[in-house]
Amino acid sequence: MKLWLYYLAAFFGIILARYFIVAGGTYWLFYSSSNKSFIKQPHIQYPSWREIKKDIALSVIATTALAICAAIIMTIYDSGATRLYWSVGSYGIWYFIASFCGVILLQDTCYYFFHRGFHHPLLFNWLHRGHHRSKNPTPWTSFALDFPEALIQGLFLIVIVFIIPLHFVVLALWLVTMTIWSLVNHLGFELFPGFPEHWWGKWFISSDHHSLHHRKYSKHYGLYFTFWDRLLGTN
Ligand SMILES: [Zn+2]
Ligand SMILES: [Zn+2]
Repeated sequence: MKLWLYYLAAFFGIILARYFIVAGGTYWLFYSSSNKSFIKQPHIQYPSWREIKKDIALSVIATTALAICAAIIMTIYDSGATRLYWSVGSYGIWYFIASFCGVILLQDTCYYFFHRGFHHPLLFNWLHRGHHRSKNPTPWTSFALDFPEALIQGLFLIVIVFIIPLHFVVLALWLVTMTIWSLVNHLGFELFPGFPEHWWGKWFISSDHHSLHHRKYSKHYGLYFTFWDRLLGTN
């Protein structure tokens, strides 16, 4: 119990510091008055400080949910019950690469269907309303999740490390990918104009897609790829 509390406090600090560094840093880079010339985005919407404060408050709540899940994972890892491993040789280099691609595709698929579920009128107010408070998302919105939604995302991680053997570096790369993608999706403007129309780019969820989703709930539920949106008519 003492160890679990130690993990909880440590992860809360790490996840929150990560949020302020990456979301705050990205916001400063693209939105601060000293960097305005760097943006060159005529359509950028500057949020009010009130909106930003709401996103930050919700992100602290999401941090708590994720820290609980991370502490659970480490406690179970200590008991030897997860399938996390350290030695690349245990499953080989090809498995190392395939497991990374596999979890990304699996998460993208699960996220699409869960996300559509979150928008069901019976669930929306409980699970997803907080995230949609910002009609024009900013990097501060990237981690602004209601407690139950953050808990569901954390539980997904717990289930994965129980079922699929993952190298610690793959897990770390996966978390980094998630963080970067979420930041890009919540930039509030298209970082690479024209990319979403490109034959290759159109298969990836971009900030344009996700900004539209924040205003128009019936489109673009995907996380990384547009595959499911295209297949199921929500693109
Ligand atoms: Zn949504
Ligand atoms: Zn969003």
